[in-house]
Amino acid sequence: MGGSGYDEIFKRLVKSGYRGDMPEEIKKIKKEGNEVTGEYVRYASGAGDPNRVVFKVRDCPPDCGDDKRKNCEASCLFGAIVRDMEGNVVIKQNNCAGCGECAEVCREYSLVDKKEFVPLIELLKDRTVPVFVIINHWFLQGSMFFKPGFRQEIIANNRSKY
Ligand code: SF4
Ligand code: SF4
Repeated sequence: MGGSGYDEIFKRLVKSGYRGDMPEEIKKIKKEGNEVTGEYVRYASGAGDPNRVVFKVRDCPPDCGDDKRKNCEASCLFGAIVRDMEGNVVIKQNNCAGCGECAEVCREYSLVDKKEFVPLIELLKDRTVPVFVIINHWFLQGSMFFKPGFRQEIIANNRSKY
């Protein structure tokens, strides 16, 4: 699994959620993965501290902060990203607004944002309760799962039951 492992894992979890074989898929992902794969699976499946959106899963390469295109500190409008005495990136939870911008910028996938979608899959499949989904624009644009009209499909599918 390459540098984009986090997105890839998320896609695999969504697909397996719809197929109904997520536990088997998670086992496969972990077997194929590396030392951070377990953490990726955790946050890509929506687990982790419910009060946090962004998580640091591994150390940063020493030269990363020099690259303006992936400068997580500069991307944070809330001053929530600081460095400790060793120069490691730390998120000050009290300042963090959970916007996810730093995780977007971090192409090393040292910072990842928790995905809230996977826990909804069973609800969407069951259709026993109304599900209202708010999906932001980059998610719709960036995900291979959401063809044009998918949002309307979710709404229509759930409406049709009530
Ligand atoms: S999630 Fe947003 S507010 Fe929190 S550290 Fe990242 S950029 Fe800053
Ligand atoms: S968190 Fe990501 S963007 Fe920020 S310094 Fe580390 S590797 Fe670079």
